[in-house]
Amino acid sequence: MKKRKIEYNCEVFQKYLVEYLDEELPSEIFIELEKHRMVCRECTRLIKSLRKIIYELRSLTNYEVPKDVLERIHTYIKIKKWKRK
Ligand SMILES: [Zn+2]
Repeated sequence: MKKRKIEYNCEVFQKYLVEYLDEELPSEIFIELEKHRMVCRECTRLIKSLRKIIYELRSLTNYEVPKDVLERIHTYIKIKKWKRK
């Protein structure tokens, strides 16, 4: 078997974060991310808070959260959370 698979870690998870939240991913990637998420507390927390933010945004504006807004949230979290090390 060829080793072509990506290793799904926090970094990869973040990379797909926006698409993950948007449920725009091909199911095989989604499943892999989900697998990582299930074993990673950090990513679970990240997703939870993001979902909450997005939910609140949606209920406020009453329409779909624009993708660039999601991306900005994404960037924000990236800077905040992952540069901490
Ligand atoms: Zn993780």
